[in-house]
Amino acid sequence: MPPRPIHEPRRDDCPWCGSKRLRTRLRASDLLQHRPGTFAVDECRDCAHTFQNPRLTAEGLALYQRPPAGGLPGGSAERVLATRTRRRRLVATARAMLPFSEPESWLDVGTGDALFPEVAKEVFAYTSFDGLDPTARVVRAREAGRVEEAHQGQLTDPATGARLRARYDVVSMLGHVEHTLDPRAELRAALLALRPGGHLLLELPEPRSAFAALLGKWWVAHGQPRHLHLIPLPNLRAELESRGCTVVTADRSGAHVPHDLAAALALSLSHSVPAPRTALLRAAAPLVTAAGALDHALAPLLRHTRFSNTYRVIARKN
Ligand SMILES: [Zn+2]
Repeated sequence: MPPRPIHEPRRDDCPWCGSKRLRTRLRASDLLQHRPGTFAVDECRDCAHTFQNPRLTAEGLALYQRPPAGGLPGGSAERVLATRTRRRRLVATARAMLPFSEPESWLDVGTGDALFPEVAKEVFAYTSFDGLDPTARVVRAREAGRVEEAHQGQLTDPATGARLRARYDVVSMLGHVEHTLDPRAELRAALLALRPGGHLLLELPEPRSAFAALLGKWWVAHGQPRHLHLIPLPNLRAELESRGCTVVTADRSGAHVPHDLAAALALSLSHSVPAPRTALLRAAAPLVTAAGALDHALAPLLRHTRFSNTYRVIARKN
């Protein structure tokens, strides 16, 4: 049997709005893992939807899928992304749900090792957290007691959808939608898993962030080849409202992640330094640390400007 293709055919229209007015935003290789291949990111001139084109197929995506943190050679960029402030940020994300009635049941989609449910449990002690992930990491997370139920697979899989239908007061997707082949199908499936009156909690990179233009392919949220779709906030909001949801929170500042400069520096260093990289990258580590300090120093200001890199949306299913 011939190998399955890893790329879809290149498309000449926007997968979000159908416009043919596309421009190529950038071309990049796999800057994080240095696997072979070059990827193009296109942007729609009409709706600003930003997407990988040609897009990886499910087979291609599995090939390039990011292994768990720590499993990478070198790993300098990876370590920057997994800063110790991550936990604090996840607490802030969980606390964004405090104004709403206390959930009994919560599903975290794309949960990985279920770090978010573990942290959110500190805020919502009486809530039952389940996790869904395509990998077996979610099964190990259940064994470690971080989630009550582990669902391994895709939310858009019909059998999974039927099992989870109308079961949850909250469905969270943090840094997940941009990895999915079909974001609209993913949102639809998430809404089906909610009870009426339940809330969808989303955090996504903002492709219109000024950091995207400033840093180009070194902007970590461009994330090639693993980020397939970057959806601007107005598009996501309109989509949820067209599905009968009420958007109760659309926050550009609270979800900003202060890592753009350090991550861009780490990515470009690990790219420009020839292998074996370890010793030289270790020597450059103080530079990356300094860039990280700058990210944090600027964050209180930048999170309120066009430099904010991530947005948070909470939508109620009516
Ligand atoms: Zn478009």
